[in-house]
Amino acid sequence: MRDICSSRLWRRPSWQSRPGGLPAAPLTNCAAPPALYSLYSMLALGITHNSVPLAARKRGCALYAVSSKRQPQTPQGAEGGPPALNGTRSSQAEAALPAQQQQQQSLELGGAAAAAPPPAQETGLQLHYRTSWERPVLHHSINGGEWQVVEMQQVVSGNGWWKAASLDTAASSAGSNGSASAPQLEFVVTDGYDHWDKAPDGGNYVIQQAGRWQLAEGELAQAERPPVLLVSDLDDTMIGDDAATAAFTRWWQEEAVPAGGRLVFNTGRALDLFQALLVEKGDVLAQPDMLISAIGTRIYAKNRRGAWEEDEGYTASLGAGWQLEGVREACYRVLANVGKDAMHFRPPNEMSEHKVTCGVRVDVLEGVVASISADLAASGVAHRLVVSGSGGWRFVDLVPRQAGKLQALEYARRRLGFAPEHTVAAGDSGNDIDMLEGEHKSIIVGNAHPELFAWADARRAAGTADELHVAQAHRAQGILEGLQRWGFKA
Ligand SMILES: [Mg+2]
Repeated sequence: MRDICSSRLWRRPSWQSRPGGLPAAPLTNCAAPPALYSLYSMLALGITHNSVPLAARKRGCALYAVSSKRQPQTPQGAEGGPPALNGTRSSQAEAALPAQQQQQQSLELGGAAAAAPPPAQETGLQLHYRTSWERPVLHHSINGGEWQVVEMQQVVSGNGWWKAASLDTAASSAGSNGSASAPQLEFVVTDGYDHWDKAPDGGNYVIQQAGRWQLAEGELAQAERPPVLLVSDLDDTMIGDDAATAAFTRWWQEEAVPAGGRLVFNTGRALDLFQALLVEKGDVLAQPDMLISAIGTRIYAKNRRGAWEEDEGYTASLGAGWQLEGVREACYRVLANVGKDAMHFRPPNEMSEHKVTCGVRVDVLEGVVASISADLAASGVAHRLVVSGSGGWRFVDLVPRQAGKLQALEYARRRLGFAPEHTVAAGDSGNDIDMLEGEHKSIIVGNAHPELFAWADARRAAGTADELHVAQAHRAQGILEGLQRWGFKA
């Protein structure tokens, strides 16, 4: 096996370490003593500050990291110096990279979003890596080809522990140094500075076949269950029982994420109300990899700075045929007929450029829906009308025809790269019916509103309920029950 130390990508680090585990054994084919390497490493990096203890960042072992007060040094023979990762960082590993590999690294790291890569396709390889390192770098060779680098991306719903990289092993044929018997993937991981995670025997990690793999505490394992894209409603589905939410989050982070799972919340809440919920339930609720808000009228993903960033392409797609003022005027006309005691506009924070929401008393609901629909049809406004809620009042949401919980789910599914058979939607109320109706699998939690059970009964009677699971368990426990039913959970 070819060791990366002989690949000329590396200067010898002062220490090797495994994040969260014991320090790896020293490399046997690098002869200089550690103290000399330490001095060499510091000189090569132009360190102006002493090394600092990093016990807080690592679990179970005392390690040292280079202070951030470093001066990146242009490698000998390189022109203009190495590019900083995303313009914010340089490192020993980068400084040692040949120009061609630096260029490839820049390409691989391009794009504004920090979304973790989609799950491995049949010919690809996906690696999940459990680490406290903020930006681990995967140094790898595919099919014995040239060594390359790629920064692993944070999986947002992995609670900060899981980073991931997807590699197309089929498209990467063996390089000049490769052979037909070379492993699909040979790799080590670094923290981007001078800490390495190598295999327990001191060599490189080796994966012999494509698929989904996870590396934690020095152990490589292949995923046993298929990856799932879970698209879940929030109120009274994912939340409402903190113990159940915490149980889901535990399972999600320990088992679903390293198997390639991704989490999307699909809620009627606007972004500010969702963020308030994240603060309120931060100790039990998983962060989603994407957020669909306000009845499928906005989609957000986290950017590299950790802020929720609107998918402007999706928002822009909602404009065709939609007339906000026309919708509001149609609602005003009906309100004038039924009276303000039977209908009202919801507060401004529940409205948006692409969403008008009214509260309507149940006894006039049917007439109100018919009148608004007829009015908008006559004026040619392309809209979608969604009724939800329980008790004596209902929410009536009007959104563009291109919006809605199902339409947004499909958009997120394609962006995250999941097939319908690996996608599960979960909900509890009338505004979830839309997304529960897609080609994917669905879960109705046991505490759902009567309208959902009635809808499920109608699906069964029509023979179209094969992909629908009505859970006995409530809220997040109902989601876990459904995921087990669909084979995504043991
Ligand atoms: Mg709900």
